[in-house]
Amino acid sequence: MRSDALSLGILGGGQLAQMLALAALPLGVRVVVLEPDPHAPARLCAEHLHAPYTDPAGLSRLAECSAVTLEFENVPTAALQALAGQVPVRPGAALLERTKHRAREKEALRAAGVHTAPFVVIEAEADLHGALAAVGGRGILKTSELGYDGKGQARIDTEAELSAAWAALNGAACVLGGLVPFVREVSLSVARTAAGQLAFGPLIENIHRAGILRTSMFPATDAEATEVQARELARACAEAWALEGLMTLEFFVLDGGQGGPTPLLVNEVAPRVHNSAHLTQDGGGLSQFEAQVRAVLGLPLTDWRPLHPTAMVNIVGAADEHGTPLEPDWNAVDALPGARLHLYHKAWRAGRKLGHVNLVAPDAAALAARLAELERLIP
Ligand code: AMP
Repeated sequence: MRSDALSLGILGGGQLAQMLALAALPLGVRVVVLEPDPHAPARLCAEHLHAPYTDPAGLSRLAECSAVTLEFENVPTAALQALAGQVPVRPGAALLERTKHRAREKEALRAAGVHTAPFVVIEAEADLHGALAAVGGRGILKTSELGYDGKGQARIDTEAELSAAWAALNGAACVLGGLVPFVREVSLSVARTAAGQLAFGPLIENIHRAGILRTSMFPATDAEATEVQARELARACAEAWALEGLMTLEFFVLDGGQGGPTPLLVNEVAPRVHNSAHLTQDGGGLSQFEAQVRAVLGLPLTDWRPLHPTAMVNIVGAADEHGTPLEPDWNAVDALPGARLHLYHKAWRAGRKLGHVNLVAPDAAALAARLAELERLIP
């Protein structure tokens, strides 16, 4: 039986590992997570190795699994290197090294023939000179490592702001990207097996609030004009980087003007499932979580996409003007037709992702009406 044979190790035990484990179980696959946080969301549905990512005993236990994947790009590359040769690690250390570091990632994207916003790498005081002009006069300064959900980022309009922002980041290695006048943001995932077979996720449209993803929608607006190109760029990266496993590309869609092709720039790449594609859990098709499990374990894999119009709204720790936590109207969310609640079992903290609600509808008009209602219920 399959369940005797297959188990999956995951570096990281957050909500993505939790949802990977929930997708793996029905396939007969047991999951083991290595995660130092004692309150890790994945502990509720997986064997939890409560230890640092580089803990030798923890890594030995992961090495007993059929394959190891990750849910979090900030795991030390040393952990993947220690596992290499003992168990398939997908994606591997070389791909992680690129995607955990903004400057290296952008350089690798360009080498794969993929366009990004103009950027300048800032590593020393001297790099500041002329940098803003080089990216078009307005930009966003981001730390090269450890930034997420808008953290470690600053909007820059003047040279003085650039110097002050870099000083405020303690002179950390950064990338200054030119401000992109995008018409919308979209994302798309690609999976590649060790044998080189490719499969793709759907094109999804994303709306951010204060640097954090708020709402995702399928289908994306004008998907016919962009999906083929997004898949082609994802394929180019997956092949150039010899992806094994699943990765997600975030794109800026530019205004192509009259009749021209719609240009796409890649903003960033995550070597894993992505918040924007949580809606694949409830759209009726294969979910992104099952797709990553299948890709990593070498199980049969097809393209995955919802069978119905689907949206997702994130539940992010929100507070009123006195700092008192604001809660969604849970009963009203549960009562909304087509709504499915997914909570991560994390303690409330302002700005922290605590869960999400997926929403399915029979057609686009019904989805828009239900989404407007759902947005009112979630602060
Ligand atoms: P990131 O952490 O790179 O995903 O950035 C978070 C969000 O900030 C993006 O999803 C965009 O909405 C916005 N953003 C980031 N970089 C740029 C850019 N170069 N131009 C315009 N908006 C950006």
